[in-house]
Amino acid sequence: MAQGIPEEVMMNTALIKDLADVAKDAALLQGVLMRIQETPNSSELVTYAPLTLFPTPVPKAVFHQAIEVQTHYNILVDKISQDPDFLQGALASTIEVDDFIARLFKIHQQILKEGRSQSIILGLNRSDYMLDLREDGTSSLKQIEINTFAASFGGLSSRMADVHRHILNVAGRLEESQRILNNNPAAGLAAAIAKAWELYGSERLVFFFFVMTNLLPSCFRNIPTIRKRFDDVCKTGSLDQDKRLFVDGCEVAVVYYRNGYMPQNYVSEQSWDARLLMERSLAVKCPDISTHLVGTKKVQQVLAKPGVLEKFFPEQPEVVEQIRATFAGLYTLDMGPEGDRTVAMALAAPDRFVLKPQREGGGNNIYGSEICQVLERVKDSKERMAYILMDKIHPTPVLNYLLRRDAPLKLTNCLSELGAFGAYVRQGKDMVLNKCVGHLLRTKSAEHSDGGIAAGVALLDNPLLV
Ligand code: ADP
Ligand code: MG
Ligand code: MG
Repeated sequence: MAQGIPEEVMMNTALIKDLADVAKDAALLQGVLMRIQETPNSSELVTYAPLTLFPTPVPKAVFHQAIEVQTHYNILVDKISQDPDFLQGALASTIEVDDFIARLFKIHQQILKEGRSQSIILGLNRSDYMLDLREDGTSSLKQIEINTFAASFGGLSSRMADVHRHILNVAGRLEESQRILNNNPAAGLAAAIAKAWELYGSERLVFFFFVMTNLLPSCFRNIPTIRKRFDDVCKTGSLDQDKRLFVDGCEVAVVYYRNGYMPQNYVSEQSWDARLLMERSLAVKCPDISTHLVGTKKVQQVLAKPGVLEKFFPEQPEVVEQIRATFAGLYTLDMGPEGDRTVAMALAAPDRFVLKPQREGGGNNIYGSEICQVLERVKDSKERMAYILMDKIHPTPVLNYLLRRDAPLKLTNCLSELGAFGAYVRQGKDMVLNKCVGHLLRTKSAEHSDGGIAAGVALLDNPLLV
């Protein structure tokens, strides 16, 4: 049976020291790079992105399960985004107490009232999982969340396979090296963007990359590309009478948001005006405002209620089963007896759960004794409706070495999170493209409960199928 990295390699300190240098070199060579925190806008000072020295064993069956369920998740996200009654019902309690989600919801409602101007939908998402260790020693795939907005690391993960292959080759582990899967989410995500751009119409049009800091115009697969900020859209954005979006005098075919998922991204009323302008426009938005809302943890929790998935797949019980198999326990904190039961359950055993607000980007969840502190404070008020409760997933810890520029190399107990990238394009009723375009494995030291790569906690990794 195929195995992970053998102990004779893991414990050979002289070899490990050499391999760490080999790894950094390979990362630089393959473009597994990041700008550094102290000078985030400098192209002169860059470093290797944090990465594990070795790939992490992942059982074949659960890996394929994640890849295979992805096209169903794409359809599910798309269906929910087209179901205003469901979204309204699911988010009703949340928007009473969460101003950010309420604001997004208001834009969603305004668009519904005006009528959607664009029938081309571009969805790029990433469904994340951890492998929950069962009592019998096997593990089961459990979804942590689905990101429908700015799901990242498609680019870097496309380059990570060659880094680990090289490390293993240098270590003389050819068999393991050959077991690292090819992975190119960047190509798949780009192909979906290009498809949406093509469907929109004329080749003169630009693809609009919506970011925190702007750069000069560039080109992406021969598609003219501009990068702008909310600020720029406020200043130079407008709609013509057909709701075509113009920024800096260029007509925009596709808006890809990399910014706009956190309250802090909206620094002023003008930022909100800019978001609304883009949402009202004919440009294809990735994601559009409704699809953005589908990515909330509250929607995830409502989907896990009995009978809900069946409504979206009335004639496909096998699809319902495939999706539901990946759900962890999710519990409402709405006012009423059900929410009261959730509070009591969490207070009685806080270590069994994660308390989640409707936020993105890592570092927002609440764990352990802090769950009790927060719940004691909010349990009798509507404030508790801003959260959902989720079963804590317990993956098997795996030893690995973590390579990052700001910490010494050391052998660490690690936990991994597997992501599957989904891409779809719909035109009217026609699903033109629906794919799983690749995967991401992120690994963090077991001492951290939360946080992704951008948050400085997780590192890039590769699955080693076993
Ligand atoms: P975000 O949108 O901020 O990424 P997540 O739901 O993905 O929010 O949570 C952030 C991190 O917290 C995850 O990457 C994972 O490490 C940890 N986490 C979240 N939910 C769970 C859970 N149910 N069990 C264990 N760890 C979790
Ligand atoms: Mg997220
Ligand atoms: Mg996450």
